[in-house]
Formats: sequence, C-alpha cells, structure tokens
Amino acid sequence: MLRNYVGGAWVEAGASETLETRSPAGGAVLAEVPLSTADDIAAATAAAREAFPAWRSTPPQQRARALFALRELVVANQQELAELVTLDMGKTTDDAFAEVGRGIESIEAAGAVPHMLKGENLEGIATGVDIEMVRQPVGVIAAITPFNFPAMIPLWFLPFAVGCGNTFVLKPSEQDPLTSVRLFELIDEAGVFPAGVVNLVHGAHDAVNGLLHDPEVDGISFVGSAKTARYVASTAVAEGKRVQALGGAKNAMVAMPDADPKLLAGGVTGSAFGAAGQRCLAGSLLVLVGTEAEQDATLQTVVDAAGALSVGDGADPATDVCPLVSVASRERVEGEIETALGEGARLVLDGRRGGGEGGAELGPTIIDGAPADSRAVREELFGPVLTVLRTPDLDGALELVNSSRYGNSSILFTSSGGTAREFRHRVQAGMIGVNVGVAAPIAWFPFAGWKDSIDGDLHANGRDAFEFYTRKKVVTSRWA
Ligand code: NAD
Repeated sequence: MLRNYVGGAWVEAGASETLETRSPAGGAVLAEVPLSTADDIAAATAAAREAFPAWRSTPPQQRARALFALRELVVANQQELAELVTLDMGKTTDDAFAEVGRGIESIEAAGAVPHMLKGENLEGIATGVDIEMVRQPVGVIAAITPFNFPAMIPLWFLPFAVGCGNTFVLKPSEQDPLTSVRLFELIDEAGVFPAGVVNLVHGAHDAVNGLLHDPEVDGISFVGSAKTARYVASTAVAEGKRVQALGGAKNAMVAMPDADPKLLAGGVTGSAFGAAGQRCLAGSLLVLVGTEAEQDATLQTVVDAAGALSVGDGADPATDVCPLVSVASRERVEGEIETALGEGARLVLDGRRGGGEGGAELGPTIIDGAPADSRAVREELFGPVLTVLRTPDLDGALELVNSSRYGNSSILFTSSGGTAREFRHRVQAGMIGVNVGVAAPIAWFPFAGWKDSIDGDLHANGRDAFEFYTRKKVVTSRWA
C-alpha cells in the first residue's frame, strides 16, 4: 500500500478503502492506493501550516537554491521518472521523457523567484510620503492533479508555490500516483526542503473534498476535467480560498488547402493520436477548409499518416499510439464511437481492436459527418478519436471553432502569413498553434485556456504563477 508523505516522513493513511493502480499495458496491479480521509488530509495540512512561518522567512535566494537542487535531482533521474510515467499512465517512453523535461522547465522558470518577487515603489506621493508594494506568500497551497501528465503537472505547481514561500500539499491522480511517490522519495532522500514544506496525500473524491473544506488550505491549483474544475473552483471560492482550476478541452485543428502536407500530416496525427488522445492539448476536431475536392485531399493525407501509426505498449520504442489509461477508459471511448455512428457519423478510419492484446489499446479513429450538436463534435472524448468538420472558408472555420464552450487550444495549418494572422486575432482560445500540432507553451509563458477550459483568472506557469502564489501588500509611509 502506498503511503502519504507528511511533515517529512512517510506515514500510513488511516483510510480503510483503497484502489488499485494498474499498468495500462497488460493490466498488472502496480500498487494499492489508499483513499485518504479528511483526517489524513488534516494531518498533511497541519504539517504544511507548521512549516510555513520558517519557510516564508527563508530568504528567497535560499528557496531558489532548493529549487536548483530539485532541478538537479529531476534531471539526474529523468529516465527513471519517465519509465514510471510509462508504466503507470501508459504513454510512450519518449513522450514521458519529454513530459519530465517540461517539468524540469517549470522548476527552471520558478528559479527566477527572487527576481519575480520584487515589488514596486513610488517616492514622494505627498510631502514626505512614499508608497511600496511587496509580495508575500499566500500560505498553504494544495494541488490536485489529473492522470494524463503525472510528472509534469505536479511540477507546474510545486516549484512556483514553494519558491514563493508557500508550503504545499499534492494530491495526485489516484489512477497513476507512482511518479509523484518517486519524486517525493527523491526529495526526501536528498533533503531538498525542510520537513512539512512539501507533502503528498493519496486519494480521490474524499481527499479532494477534505482539501476544499480544510480551513488550513489557503489556495488551490487544480487540473482535470471541466466538470470537476467547476466543482472545485466554486467550492473553493465558497470556502474563501484562492483558486485556479484548469479544465477540459475540445481543440480544433483548421487545415487550409494551402497547408504544407508534411507539416499537416505530422502535426494533426501527433496531436490527435499522441498519448492516445489523452492530452488537454490534443486536437480532436479537424476542420477541413476549401472545395470538396480540396477537403477530401487533405483528409486523405491525414488518413494515410494515421493508418501508418503503430499501436502498442508505450515501453516498446516502435509504438506511436499507447494504450488508454485503463480498460474502462477504452470501453468508454468505444461507447462514444458507437454513439457517433448511431447518430449518423461514418468511420473513415476504425481503430477498434475488439479488446486488443493489452486490453486498453485503441487505434487511431477518424469520424466524418457527425451532427453539429453531437458529443463527438462538442465534448472531449479523451481518446484517439478525430472528428472531421467541413467548411468552405476561414470565416466558416472560425465560426465552428469559436462556437465551442471550450477554448483551450486551437491550431491552424496554412502557408499564408495573412491567414495565420487573421486566425490568431479572431480565434477564442488560450494556446494557439500555427503549423504546430501541440502548442504547449514553455514554462516561462502562461499555460491555460479560455471559456470552460478554465475557472479562475490566472494560468499555470509564467508570470501568472508568481501572481497566483503571492498576495500583494501596499505600504504607504510618512517619516517625521
Ligand atoms: P478528473 O477531473 O477525473 O480528475 C482530476 C482530479 O480531480 C484527480 O485528482 C481526481 O482525483 C479528482 N476528482 C475527479 N473527480 C472528482 C470529483 N467528483 N470530486 C472531487 N475530486 C474529483 O480528470 P482526469 O481524467 O484525471 O484528467 C483528464 C482531464 O484533465 C481532461 O479533461 C483534460 O482535458 C484535463 N486536463 C486539462 C489540462 C489543462 O491545462 N487545461 C491539462 C491536463 C489535463
């Protein structure tokens, strides 16, 4: 059974219920995950609260040095962490290695903390009166993270939160917590932080509710589905907590007839089918622009590239499309495909494998002709399923893209700078790609979407992270 990490020690959760985390490739049980209760959560938040006064008083340069040590630790163990991501979540080892690399970049960006915490001042706002703004940490921050990036997303939050002088409690996804456990083991063994500065609790809904209703928690960083994000954000606000809740997505990729075929084929298939479509930046809609003949030609380019992808175990270097995170997830996505077919859509590429050897595998699937209000067009299916839409021109494409309730990412494939500029200006989404299939900003830039893809104002990473993890205090003073 996995243990929680509280106040600098590994402790058994008092939880009586557990879940199994299983390998997506093959289904072997990897660990028992305790479903921590409100009491388990209270122990972790109490440890974080106790560590807060000394940690916030630690000079920011020294906190940054702890982040540098953390960076060296993750760099030295990048391959091992990546292999754990593959084992527990399923994605290919190359993809997992790149994911850990993204986490390393977040630590690097957070290392600028002494610079980013500097305030503002203005001399002589009245006779003998000066004004200054300083930034102080918020207190205890809890992060609640999803299954699809078990290394990167905890590292979006931990470095910035503790760099700013907060203490921290992580509740990773109950579906694949092993990478977080190893990260905390490394932190513990190397003594990167004083006891209680970072804590880890396992669990699911009860653990999340424990954090949401715990008076010791001052702020919550959440990433997950749109429905849970809305619940977490509204509950946290009602409890008087600061919150950023990044939710789900339905990302469109617009293919203009003048798109470079190579960039288009690699970009669209990498985005739609990489990590088996289980990325918040996965392109799950392909909007074909042009005459019917041009649309068909573009679609054929994508179908040919998708049909050449190999489906299998993420640990096999030959694999392009990994299994879904669980058999239940594969069954859910197959149900969504059936629903779309029942509504009149047709399969252009059928990735269903009748269960498959690994059980959770599903190949690239492309659907055309789904009704405009169907789930295949409107909702995130979170699997390797690409839904095709058609329109004659860019105006029509923008109308289709902007009618979504989500606004995480949107992608354009074109060779025209003018078309790209028009798209960039008018599209309603937070992360835009031009001839880039997965437009994930590096950690020095903000990461999040618009509309129902976020509840809260401040994005993850970039300057926004320093804003979210600090409170501003303005001091006006006069000296005789
Ligand atoms: P999820 O919402 O099921 O779970 C996320 C977290 O919330 C987990 O820690 C889980 O334990 C907890 N949780 C789930 N349901 C809950 C409930 N009813 N009450 C309280 N807590 C609950 O999401 P997931 O399936 O793990 O992750 C995939 C989703 O995350 C997708 O929708 C994806 O788009 C989204 N995502 C978004 C971003 C982004 O940047 N916007 C990034 C990655 C993933």
